[in-house]
Parts: sequence; C-alpha cells; structure tokens
Amino acid sequence: MFSLNGTGIGRHIGIGKVIVLNHGHRDIPKYHVSPNQVESEVQRFRSALDQTRAELHRVQKGIPENAPKETNAFLEVHILMLQDPAITEQPVRAIQKYFYNAEWALKTETEKLVRLFENIEDPYLRSKKNDVHQVVERIFDELIVANDASPLASNKNLHGHVVVALDLTPAEVVALHSRGVNGFITSLGGPISHTAILARSIGIPAVFGLHNTVHYIQHGDLIAIDSHTGTIVVNPDKPLLNEFQQRLIYQREREKQLRSLRKQPSVTLDGHHIDLFANIELPDDINILESVGIQSVGLYRTEFLFMNRTQPPDESEQYLAYRDVIANLEGPVTIRTLDLGADKQVDGGRTDGASTINPALGLRAIRLCLNEPALFRPQLRAILRASVHGQTRIMIPMLSSLSELEQALEIVNEVKHDLGREGIAFNDNIPIGGMIEVPAAAISADLFAEKLDFLSIGTNDLIQYTLAIDRIDDEVNYLYDPLHPSVLRLIRNVLTAGRTAGIPVSMCGEMAGDPAYTRLLLGLGLLEFSMEPKRLLEVKEIIQTSNVDELFDKTQEILSCGKSSQLRALVDRINQN
Ligand code: PEP
Ligand code: MG
Repeated sequence: MFSLNGTGIGRHIGIGKVIVLNHGHRDIPKYHVSPNQVESEVQRFRSALDQTRAELHRVQKGIPENAPKETNAFLEVHILMLQDPAITEQPVRAIQKYFYNAEWALKTETEKLVRLFENIEDPYLRSKKNDVHQVVERIFDELIVANDASPLASNKNLHGHVVVALDLTPAEVVALHSRGVNGFITSLGGPISHTAILARSIGIPAVFGLHNTVHYIQHGDLIAIDSHTGTIVVNPDKPLLNEFQQRLIYQREREKQLRSLRKQPSVTLDGHHIDLFANIELPDDINILESVGIQSVGLYRTEFLFMNRTQPPDESEQYLAYRDVIANLEGPVTIRTLDLGADKQVDGGRTDGASTINPALGLRAIRLCLNEPALFRPQLRAILRASVHGQTRIMIPMLSSLSELEQALEIVNEVKHDLGREGIAFNDNIPIGGMIEVPAAAISADLFAEKLDFLSIGTNDLIQYTLAIDRIDDEVNYLYDPLHPSVLRLIRNVLTAGRTAGIPVSMCGEMAGDPAYTRLLLGLGLLEFSMEPKRLLEVKEIIQTSNVDELFDKTQEILSCGKSSQLRALVDRINQN
C-alpha cells in the first residue's frame, strides 16, 4: 500500500481496479518487413484504420445525452481525419517504399503532417495538430495493443475500473464514463483544463498532475481516490479500503440529502438573501439546472462554442446558442464575451506553447476581441439579438484598463446602432458588466464600477495574476492560494467598489463554488455566487446555516491577518461553528 498526491478534480470518492492506458508515451516499434510481407503489413495497417473508424463510431453512439455537444463535434473531426490521405495513404506508401513496419510508417508520416500544421499561421488550423496526435494514438491503440485488450479498443464494460493515463482528452473522458469507469488518474493536466472541467461537471473523481509517480501504478492494482484532497491510495489495506467504502456510501446518501434543498430559499440565518447562479459552458448545460433548483446563469463561457471545430460559429449559430439558453431560463443569463487564448485554445486542449511565449499574459479575452473585431462584432450582434428572448447581460472578461473598457463599450454601441439601422430587435438597455480578474482592475475597481452595470470577480485568473502562478502549471499548483492575504484584500476592494457605486458584484471563479470559502465570502459581503451547478446545493446548505452579521466581524480579524497559515486556521474556525 502507498499513497500519492496530485491535483484533485471535484470532491468525490472512487474505488476501482486500474487500467493503464499507455498512449502518449509508448515505444513505437521499428523494424523492416521483407518484400513479400509488404502486402500483409499494408493489410494490417488498413485493418487498424477500419477498427479505429468503427471504434470512433461506437464511441459516438455511446455519448450520453447530457454530454456537451462539442464532444460529438470533436469526434466528427476525428472521423473526418480518418479519411485524410495524409493519414490513410501516406503510411501505406512508406510501408511499400521503405519496407517499414506499419507503426513506424505511421509515426514518420505523422511527424511530417504535424510539422505542416505547426507552420500554419491560422491558430484554428494550427491547433488541429493536436487532433492529428489524438487520432493517430487511436490507430496505435489498434496496431500495438489490439491483442492486449486496450480498453478504448474494446467494448468492455469498465464498471469498477479506474483509468490511469499520461493524459486524457475530453472525448475519452465521456467515452470511458459511458462504460462505467469510476475514476481518472493522469500524469499531466491542471484543475481547469477542459478535461478537468468535464470530469468535474459529470461528477467523476479524478486526480491529475501526478507526474512520474503515475508509473508506480500498474494494471490490476486496486486504487482508492479522494478527489477532494487529491490523494490516491494504491492497494489500500483492508481497514483503509473499508474506510473509503464507508465514505462512498456516505457520499451517495449526502447527495440524496442535498437534493432536498433544491426548492429551499437561499437565505442566511439572519435573513440575507444570497443569489445563486450557474456557470455553464454550452447550451445543453442548462439541462441540469432544474435538478439544483436554479434558473439563472452568472457565467456563460462562450468560448467553448468555438472549440473543437475548424471554423468559428457564425452570428446565426451563436444567436441560436444564446437564444436557447435565454429563452429556456427565467432568471438572467450572463453571457461572457469570448475568452479565447491562454489555456483555452480553439481545440479545447492545452496551450500551444509554440505560438506565444507566455500565453496567459498574451492576446487573450477582451484583448483578442479588440484586436480581431471580426470575431467580436458577430458575437455582440448575436447576444444583442438573443437578448429579446429573456433577461440577458453581457460580461467582458479580463479587463485591465479603462481604455479597453471604453473601446469595448464603443463597439457595443456601434453594433447596437447597426442593428437599429437594420431594423433588428434587441434590448437597448442590456446590462453590461466586467470581469475583475486582473489585479490592475481589482485595485481600480471603483473606476470600472462607475462605467459598468455589474462586476464579477474571476478568482481563477485573479489568483493566477496576483500570485504570478500559471493556473494550469501543475508544478506550481501548490502555491495557488485563494486565502493569500493579497487575494482577499483585492476581493474586499472589489466588493467595496461595487457597494459604493451601487452596482451588484458577483463571483464566478472556482472559489465561489468551494464550500470551504462560502462563509468567508459571506463575511466579506459577497451576495452573488456563480458556480458549477453540481456544487450549488452544498453552498446553499452553508448559506442557510450562516449568520452574515456575525461573520462580518470575524472576517475583519481574518483580513488583518498577514500569514496564510494563521488565516487558514481562522477560516477553519468560522467553518466549524
Ligand atoms: C475566472 O478567471 O475566475 C473565471 C471565472 O474565468 P475562467 O475560469 O473562464 O478564466
Ligand atoms: Mg478568467
């Protein structure tokens, strides 16, 4: 028995037998076939292609109804790639010309293809090299481990298993989930990667960023996961296994109990009403809002509509996506304008490090939109057009200067003017808010508050930029601290600015959905929380048992504390009462 620690995704317990997926860092065999083996080697390659196609169609059919639509789009791209001669015919030529074995032929031809993609200027197309890698890995799965019962290449029910891999794509997470997998463990990946967001929203326990320690885990090991602490125990002894099993039972009972809060009001013991909103990524995400009893969205991350596809959605596609959400909900829907860039590349995967030296500090979010009006204007038109179907708010991400805000507001006005001239209906009084997620904006929040209808604190980025910690770099994750005194002071500053200007301030970063911080945030004066829907009822339960006036006094003590460790102890204390 031994335990390992990584980055926990979600707050769940999982127990299962390990299946190791080796793709991504396998040794590719290299040898030459004799001239009379060429035909059968080509056949072997072609049959791996056929099996990969069949497997992708099978995965596509198994996509659960509540899976994000992009998962299907993602698979479509892969299925299309399997028709590309660069993948299907070039390796055949390499087998015939150089007598390479099929794996080596595929590897060398893929490398050439990836180099071509890397030289493309258009970021959409350039990012497709990641899809090439993923498709080719599937073919390798068939070629290399077809006889080794590869879980992705078989129809096996994987109930009771935990998948261990170098990395996982979102489509793999969905496919493995549909086969009953109980958890995911990976070497790479941070807590807000696309894969992590998906794992969290479907409620599968996962621990990412285990680095090389992942190699200590072997096929067939029994593994217990606590994704809340990011701990995994490999081959736990009987007492520990019992403990995990008890916690699993408790977890299920707890989920049932929380569902009973669905219709209850979100009010503190001393009568303060706290507004709860959902963070969503795609229109279909609203399907689960009913089950947690809310009807409003505090953050619609529209960039997810732009991922895993070759062309950005046009105005009418975006209009339909926004309208679907707005028309189906009673409460306000806060649509954030595009926040592409940094960790959110168009392929939905990892940062394309080659394209920018430090992408988190680069052309991202509103900077990208102001730089590329052809991306920004159609989105604004689509949001404004959709705004006639229900309460809608526009939210601008990553503001760092007033001039950026002024330029953005100017473009909104121009777009409104165009729509008016064209006789297209829209809500002229649509509230416009800004995300406060750059320290410069948090420090000068009063200036932004004067010009906006609401503010929303994006703690994911605010912490990243305040503490100079790349939020997706698992090597510095341990420094990512929402309780850092500087972070808390910035949050307080934004709340004060909102109160003084008389505009609402919400929080939509992960901190808002972490029950460990609910009381602290209430004490700081936060009245609007926006989070992944799965976390909502737990936060509501804490709200219902909190006394804001008492918390206010205790929070003053916390804010005057300069040391994170002492501060943490004080926060623990307010959570225990
Ligand atoms: C944030 O930065 O806190 C936020 C909500 O935005 P995102 O996580 O999409 O960057
Ligand atoms: Mg952000």
